[in-house]
Amino acid sequence: MTTSAVAKPWYQAWVLIAVERLLIKIRQPKSRADELIELRRRLREELAGGADDEERALARAVHAHKLSVAAELRSISSCRSCATGQPWPRGHYDGGDCCSGVTADLFDDNELAALAHAGTRPRDLTPPRDDHAGCAFRGPRGCTLDVTHRPARCVHYHCDTLRRELHARGQLDAVEAKLAELNRAMQRFVTVHQARLDREVLAPLIEALMGGQTQLAQLVVRSPDNSITTDLSG
Ligand code: SF4
Repeated sequence: MTTSAVAKPWYQAWVLIAVERLLIKIRQPKSRADELIELRRRLREELAGGADDEERALARAVHAHKLSVAAELRSISSCRSCATGQPWPRGHYDGGDCCSGVTADLFDDNELAALAHAGTRPRDLTPPRDDHAGCAFRGPRGCTLDVTHRPARCVHYHCDTLRRELHARGQLDAVEAKLAELNRAMQRFVTVHQARLDREVLAPLIEALMGGQTQLAQLVVRSPDNSITTDLSG
């Protein structure tokens, strides 16, 4: 295999990411461009990590429970006008009051990892072309992401207005049962995900400690009178 054959995919990926970032900066307000570029960078970093089959299976379980909750919410109307009359950024659009937060907080590390290992890729994180007011994906017609690629918290959070609507429709109990399942699935995922991150942080420390022990053992030599001493000359 030639050197160029090895380097080409890396080079192509680097160029594509650079072009992607340039297009985002041209098309988007600076605040959204910055948040979106950082979010996609974090997603790529998570995808390059060492998730195993168990972590991916738990991420897919979160995904399945999220879709199950979302299916209950298809025809609700509360979210279309909940932010009307509120101060900026909440009231910039009539709907999606709970989407007025900061993108990095809404897509925290656990949520982003669950999305990554259930199949979300950077190209799936597509924003609106309208004003940036809150989450990078909030627009005048709601969220531009397919529910598949939204954090679990986006379907998990139910404000009082939404609860009242679900109660009036006779759906609240069923939705709450599904929310509890989603919550349990997310907790299981987070436990395994965090344990893997802990292992990744600890692995180099343990390796360094073991290396230090080996070096120390090599420094311990026997003196001519057969007593143990330490050779510190080298
Ligand atoms: S991802 Fe979509 S649903 Fe979730 S906070 Fe952002 S705009 Fe709202």
